[in-house]
Amino acid sequence: MSYVFPPQEVAAVPITGSDLKYPARRVYCVGRNYEEHAKEMGFTGREPPFFFLKPADSLVVVKAGEMGSLPYPSLTQNFHHEVELVVAIGKGGKNIQANDAHSHIYGYAIGLDMTRRDLQGEMKKQGRPWCIGKGFDHSAPIGPITPAAQLGGIEKANIELSVDGVVRQTSTIDKLIWNIGEVIEHLSAAWELQPGDLIYTGTPEGVGAVVSGNVMVAKVTGLPDLTIKVS
Ligand code: MN
Repeated sequence: MSYVFPPQEVAAVPITGSDLKYPARRVYCVGRNYEEHAKEMGFTGREPPFFFLKPADSLVVVKAGEMGSLPYPSLTQNFHHEVELVVAIGKGGKNIQANDAHSHIYGYAIGLDMTRRDLQGEMKKQGRPWCIGKGFDHSAPIGPITPAAQLGGIEKANIELSVDGVVRQTSTIDKLIWNIGEVIEHLSAAWELQPGDLIYTGTPEGVGAVVSGNVMVAKVTGLPDLTIKVS
């Protein structure tokens, strides 16, 4: 039996310091996981973590040292950047406990949870799903994955995003409301995680709009920079 057309290849994310590639399966995202970002979006306090997904083929893989290209999407006048630490799952599981979560992590990458903020806002107001604001084509740029074993810990790393050389977002990973282990505990209670699952862990304050021609540079201490131009 053959397919009626060739199946689409999975997104392959390069591994730092290796010729191997990481085959992506799902893209999970955590909402409002930094207090100052929750406040800028009009919320306060610690709420249980909540999740949404992006299609795996919305990943835009950018190699280290290269400038990626991000098409300005349709239907929006308010295209926002959200710089995030991405956790790459290497070993699946369900009901994973926070204190065991790190044994399920393959590595870390920098990601951008690009957002059509005007469409997301309209959907929120109407109580409808966020898909059109969050899960559109090319909405998930990602840099190379660095194996956790090569990092001296990521918990206190700095995270930063600049646009055309001006810093817009800056924070540290230890300001996450729900830390990486707790995110995996909550997520794996709702879905069985599998190798290839990526988790965008949430953005710090300072989100804002980009337009065609802008160059975004995202940095997390210890990981290769992610550079991408809006086309
Ligand atoms: Mn986000």
